[in-house]
Amino acid sequence: METIEKHLEKKGIRVTAMRLLIYKFLAEKKSAVTLSDIENAFDKVDRTTLYRTVKTFESKGVVHQINDGSTGTKYALCETNCKCELETDLHLHFHCNNCEETVCLTDHKIPQIKVPDGFIAENANLVVKGICNKCS
Ligand SMILES: [Zn+2]
Ligand SMILES: [Zn+2]
Ligand SMILES: [Zn+2]
Repeated sequence: METIEKHLEKKGIRVTAMRLLIYKFLAEKKSAVTLSDIENAFDKVDRTTLYRTVKTFESKGVVHQINDGSTGTKYALCETNCKCELETDLHLHFHCNNCEETVCLTDHKIPQIKVPDGFIAENANLVVKGICNKCS
């Protein structure tokens, strides 16, 4: 298995202690987290640095955003070779109405979406809501 350092470098991200910490936190989580979740997990973390780190991860295809309609945008790690492309990488998300957790269903890619002529699809946010396998 490649190290986190290698993985980040491959994505064009300079490794810092802060970035490693946040990456590890996200990697341990089985569900998507908000910025506040990350902030609360660490004692003294500067919100601005945290925000910038997540934004850097996002722009380099290390994490992706999920909007499940609850408070705040959530983030989850991308798969290793993810380029966050609509056709190949975007997958379904599942939001549990019971435990409020949102998880990536990476094996379930978003089916090809047809838009009318003249429209260009760049992104899609597909969140299925219901009861997750832990709660059902
Ligand atoms: Zn991605
Ligand atoms: Zn649940
Ligand atoms: Zn996801």
